[in-house]
Amino acid sequence: MNKAAQAVETTAVESADHEEIRRVFAAQRDTMLAWRQSTAAERLGRIQRLVDAVRAHTDEIVEAGAKDFRKPPEEVHLTEILPIYMEAKDAQRHLKKWMKPEKVAPTRMMVGTKGYIQYEPKGRALIISPWNYPLNLSLGPMVSALAAGCPVILKPSEMTPHMSALMSRLIRETFDETEVAVFEGEVDVSQTLLDLPFDHIFFTGSPAVGKIVMGAAAKNLTSVTLELGGKSPTIVDETADIKAAAQTIAWGKYTNNGQTCIAPDHIYVHNKVREDFVRATVEALQKAYGDSADAQQESPFLARIVNANHTARIKGLLDDAKERGGRVLYGDTVDESDRYIAPTLLTDLPDDARIMEEEIFGPLLPIIGYDSLDEVIGKVNDAPKPLALYIWSKNEKNIDEVMHRTSSGGACINHAVVHFLHGHLPFGGVNNSGIGNAHGLFGFKAFSHERAVVRTRFMLARMFFPPYTKLTNFIIKILPKSL
Ligand code: NAD
Repeated sequence: MNKAAQAVETTAVESADHEEIRRVFAAQRDTMLAWRQSTAAERLGRIQRLVDAVRAHTDEIVEAGAKDFRKPPEEVHLTEILPIYMEAKDAQRHLKKWMKPEKVAPTRMMVGTKGYIQYEPKGRALIISPWNYPLNLSLGPMVSALAAGCPVILKPSEMTPHMSALMSRLIRETFDETEVAVFEGEVDVSQTLLDLPFDHIFFTGSPAVGKIVMGAAAKNLTSVTLELGGKSPTIVDETADIKAAAQTIAWGKYTNNGQTCIAPDHIYVHNKVREDFVRATVEALQKAYGDSADAQQESPFLARIVNANHTARIKGLLDDAKERGGRVLYGDTVDESDRYIAPTLLTDLPDDARIMEEEIFGPLLPIIGYDSLDEVIGKVNDAPKPLALYIWSKNEKNIDEVMHRTSSGGACINHAVVHFLHGHLPFGGVNNSGIGNAHGLFGFKAFSHERAVVRTRFMLARMFFPPYTKLTNFIIKILPKSL
């Protein structure tokens, strides 16, 4: 194959100047104060500028995706650019309503007052984004921050330098640095940013770094949204539509070549349908990417692994699995020089194989046969709460059992990964897979403070002012019964 033509370009990251970071952060203070009074029209104007910039740079975005890790152009359009348009459209449709003070009925104690929630912009926001969907996971939260009226500093990932450099340029051309600024660089840049007293930090990345971010945020009591990762289990029971399950799981797993936070990580499949499922998954992979090992490696629809370290990490998971008795059902081609590992199905994996403990984030798919759904639920509950969980079944009782006896950030019943695209649902994890939510109204709320406001109409509270009288004591007696 023509590897030269397909080569993934590498480039060095230019690290931001740390004094410059502090200067821009200080300069965003006036913007933060001014934007407290911003109207929906002004906020939407900023979002529109961002959308127009993305549209104007579409070809370069596709090119950057290819240069960083050979992301297929179709996947750049569908999974990087489209979600930003969707996020922006949702804000355009609903922002006026989201911004309106939300009236609440008075409790009995509060008779004589009006209560409402005022959504005020939290203030200066820091967005730290990962490499796997670098544009989507940087500009998507940025739309939410702008909708909420917050100026932003973005720190994109150093692992996708072409996309990060492009975003940096795109933002510089579109916004004044006091509105939105980008600082590229490695961990040291993140650390300098994390020392600053931002009003909100929106972090997307691994649970390990999420803990560092939350620790740093604690020093300034800054609120956080943590969009983290983990091992998202998929269950295919004996009643499932096997062909639909296999095709959809293969699509969910191999889009971005397994480097998706909500990709099905491993599959529990009922032993009665296990062989059928493996056969259908192989068919789905061959249809999507070619029916020989060479054809798959040359397929323009399979992204590369992001860098040599991650290629070695995933190869390490595969080697460890095989050493511990894991059996390869399909795939197994490894070409480190091309940052390529074939879509690989594995089975017979002991629970302590590394692949069963660490987030895979690559093209390996463990398939675990089961007889008892109880046992599967037990395994899911023994692991940290995942970001997503998928159940394939036609049996309502089984669906109900899985949905009510497990916990995960999000879930799909007879589908995979698409809950990310549903802008009216909160997107986020739970505990180890994250804290807080993104998307639509939930993204707007992440960057907004819900200010509780009580406005007095008539002053019943006077009854409780000193000097305390017999009437006060009488009210104290009857009050608990009248709440
Ligand atoms: P990562 O945690 O290594 O890096 C994320 C960001 O944090 C990068 O910008 C990086 O420069 C910065 N960073 C790294 N180390 C840091 C440190 N010590 N201090 C401060 N900042 C630091 O994650 P990644 O490898 O870029 O992305 C993969 C992970 O992200 C996976 O776990 C995946 O599941 C998760 N993820 C989650 C979502 C979601 O929406 N929940 C989406 C995509 C990826």
